[in-house]
Amino acid sequence: MIKIGTSACVLGEKVRFDGGHKRSSFVASHISEYYQLVPFCPEVGIGMSVPRPAIQLREINDEIRLVDSKTGSSDYSDKMANYFERQQCSLEPLDGYILAGKSPSCGMERIKIHNEEGRLLHRDGRGMFAEALIRNFPDLPVEEDGRLNDKGIRESFFTRVEAYALFRKLV
Ligand code: SF4
Repeated sequence: MIKIGTSACVLGEKVRFDGGHKRSSFVASHISEYYQLVPFCPEVGIGMSVPRPAIQLREINDEIRLVDSKTGSSDYSDKMANYFERQQCSLEPLDGYILAGKSPSCGMERIKIHNEEGRLLHRDGRGMFAEALIRNFPDLPVEEDGRLNDKGIRESFFTRVEAYALFRKLV
């Protein structure tokens, strides 16, 4: 069966910073009938608890860093980079990813970037895990759960997933 990595909160797992989830019934109930969804949570993966302090992306010395939203004094960027490496080694190869939107870890687009003091600079960033995924695997199909409500985006995504899986079998 084709395997798609999926943000655990989208599947209803209570792993968010506030102890909640962001279950998408379309993904959790419908898509799971056709594909094996492999849950992962980068923030729990780097050892953060549930619940936990909120984190955000800040531009510090021309670098995007993942820090706690309140004081900015705890920096999780290196742990997130390590988690990405470990995740790629430990999971069987996946044929696509469905990521939760609006997250400084998983969000694919329109993620808030703050300055060193935590003031909003713009909303054109990408979550730190999503950035590593897309940069290292530019051909891998990746989508946000909310965007799959759009029929055109949905069809394009699953066509790419099927093609990616077929390609992997052939090489
Ligand atoms: Fe975990 Fe990503 Fe969901 Fe945040 S958005 S709770 S990091 S799976």
